[in-house]
Amino acid sequence: MCCNDNLNERNQGTRTHRALDLSAIAGMRFFDPHVHMTSRTTDDYQAMADAGVVALIEPAFWLGQPRTGLDSFRDYYSSLIGWERFRSSQFGIKHYCTIGLNSREANNEALAEQVMELLPAFVYKEGVVGIGEIGFDDQTAAEEKYYRLQLELAKSAGLPVQVHTPHRDKKKGTSKSMDIAVEHGLSPEMIIIDHNNEETVKEVLDRGFWAAFTIYPFTKMGNERMVEILKQYGPERIMINSAADWGISDPLAVPKSAALMKQRGISMEAIDLVCYRNAITAFGQSGQIHEKDFDQIREVDQAQKFESNSILRGGQQPRIDKGTIIIA
Ligand SMILES: [Zn+2]
Repeated sequence: MCCNDNLNERNQGTRTHRALDLSAIAGMRFFDPHVHMTSRTTDDYQAMADAGVVALIEPAFWLGQPRTGLDSFRDYYSSLIGWERFRSSQFGIKHYCTIGLNSREANNEALAEQVMELLPAFVYKEGVVGIGEIGFDDQTAAEEKYYRLQLELAKSAGLPVQVHTPHRDKKKGTSKSMDIAVEHGLSPEMIIIDHNNEETVKEVLDRGFWAAFTIYPFTKMGNERMVEILKQYGPERIMINSAADWGISDPLAVPKSAALMKQRGISMEAIDLVCYRNAITAFGQSGQIHEKDFDQIREVDQAQKFESNSILRGGQQPRIDKGTIIIA
């Protein structure tokens, strides 16, 4: 959940147009540990696959407007482990997810209670690599209550936790998220603190937590700032993600940032850690991530079916030929 800010605010950023050249990172593999593919198109999947994204994590979040009943949660969670995972596989990308009650909707307590009862039916499913994204938005008492309950769920399920940190009063919210996790007896190495910036990174790393950074246009972090953070802190326990969703966002944020890092003299080893390896190490603690699956899924057959439905509509041929202007 990354889009609490209104779109206009984001559009006020200055756009700098530079040619997109990803040749510098050709052949590299990327893992985007936070991207909401449900909100994205097949073009995005194709572009990500072409740019070297081999696997991703889709955290459960809110839909931009409040859900009105439990069944919308159930159907959403089902799609994260079902149809969306299948859709991703059709572009050769291994799809994982984290399951949780997002902080915004924790404020609807009547519904939140029901969601808490539903969660155990999903968190033990194959391909669920954590509880997330959970944490604070407005930093209300209800948000804290459901954050604590879900930390307990993570503990009993033995799963890592993907923590969304608030946009407003971020430093305080980030410290509080870590304090509470420690209070519940969770080990910092099982917690991925997301949406960091220059203000929060030091404390997160000093306390032994994973520090994730969202490269998101106009708000959060730009990737030039990210390069500076890497120069200062090094790559250990740091990972980047696109958090691309239904707002103005960039599903190629990870490969693009890798290209920029290379251009700015960050070592290939460091780029590999931050854009691939660290996320696998952190979320791999779920026991659900096997790199050999990344290769297997690349043998794509777009005519495959999921519950008798494929991604091909009415007699389409698998794969669009991007090398031509003709749309046949
Ligand atoms: Zn998100």
